[in-house]
Amino acid sequence: MNGLSDKTLQQLILLQGVNPDRVRPYLEGCTQRELAKGDILLSPEQENRHLYLILSGTFSVHVESQASPQIRVIVAGESVGELSLIRRQRPSAWVVALEESRVVQLDAEAFWGLVDCSGQVARNLFELMARWLLENTDHLVENRRTIETLAEQNTRDALTGVHNRRWFEDAVAKMVAETNDGGRPGVLVMVDVDHFKRFNDTYGHQGGDMALITLGKVMRDHVRKGDEVARYGGEEFVLLFPGTRLGDALPVVERVRQAAQHREIQLVQTGEVAHITISQGMAQTWPGVTVKELLAQADAQLYKAKESGRNRVCWETPQEQ
Ligand code: GH3
Ligand code: MG
Ligand code: MG
Repeated sequence: MNGLSDKTLQQLILLQGVNPDRVRPYLEGCTQRELAKGDILLSPEQENRHLYLILSGTFSVHVESQASPQIRVIVAGESVGELSLIRRQRPSAWVVALEESRVVQLDAEAFWGLVDCSGQVARNLFELMARWLLENTDHLVENRRTIETLAEQNTRDALTGVHNRRWFEDAVAKMVAETNDGGRPGVLVMVDVDHFKRFNDTYGHQGGDMALITLGKVMRDHVRKGDEVARYGGEEFVLLFPGTRLGDALPVVERVRQAAQHREIQLVQTGEVAHITISQGMAQTWPGVTVKELLAQADAQLYKAKESGRNRVCWETPQEQ
């Protein structure tokens, strides 16, 4: 191979600290390749029989497809292709030139010759591999965090920040299952804003949204640890009290009602202050209960609360257990 100066060789991480004269014989027969922007150096679609030492330019690495977002950039001095060369497997990613780039192409014989001739080359190779391993671990941690964040967002109501309907369906099913498995009873409360249509008509839809946000906060602030708040839909919320008897949930529910009634709703648009009230229907689980039955009981009690004047709590007397 023509003209690789000592300086150029020393800039290659794989050859750092190695006497250039020692490695030159292995590089003699190797070709240099010029790549234009967008050229593919490695791809899972093609066998790789070479290690590439990058003399100049940069490359991007893509995993799912050539068009997928780049997961890493490889710069001059680094090398690429060793994994597929060592494992005799197709590359696991696409490596694409980001600009005009130049590489030295070593076949397996030259590569292993280099490793055999110098312990320093072997050390450098370990160093490179260790760096990738750590980078991959960092990626894994980052991905896990992203997944956790997305999963959390998936269970939250975007407007109020309380749990959403999907989360509620799971949680209520668990609460019911606990009772049916011989465990403790739990309480479900349906919460509905009184005359909310009128509120919207008076203060506008944005004012209505502000009321729902405020109510979400009030409920979260006034339930105990282990009690749960979710938005059921529209201006309806649910409270869940797993492992609780109705008599023990009642003071909490009453406290929520009073807090909602007295909490000021700041309407940023007009600077006005508004108020809402809520009606609530409660039901306690019993052995053999289904989610549907529990919801129907709580809903019937909510209806009763509305019928008897709103801004109140009604409940079904629990079956003896
Ligand atoms: P009641 O006391 O009987 O519950 O009367 P209501 O007016 O609250 O009941 P109704 O079901 O007639 O009206 C509910 C209203 O809630 C109508 C709908 O426009 C409003 N609403 C539902 N979801 C939202 C929302 O996300 N934001 C706003 N601003 N309003 C909503
Ligand atoms: Mg309603
Ligand atoms: Mg309502």
